Amino acid sequence: MTTELAVRVEDKLFYNRYLVDAGRAHIKVRPHTVPSPALLTLLKVCPARCYELNDSGQVEVTVDGCVECGTCRVIGEPGGDIEWSYPRGGYGVLFKFG
Ligand code: SF4
Repeated sequence: MTTELAVRVEDKLFYNRYLVDAGRAHIKVRPHTVPSPALLTLLKVCPARCYELNDSGQVEVTVDGCVECGTCRVIGEPGGDIEWSYPRGGYGVLFKFG
């Protein structure tokens, strides 16, 4: 008999803490009218769900909660869809492995 242990990403992310660097977002989305395929992909791949569509159909990023995994950097930065850098020292995610 096996026992399944279901672990949801959202449950694990809840343990992290994030120190916001107000006014200095470490990820920026290039201004656009219609989202590129890469930007639309970011809506699906970010584990922290930092990307979302606004009411005008443009992709926005909210970096609060970003775990700095770099997935969006790989997808969005080569084509110039986003600018990505690490947060300043002392800011950003604080991992807790609870
Ligand atoms: Fe999301 Fe990872 Fe990009 Fe942060 S670095 S916004 S967690 S995909």
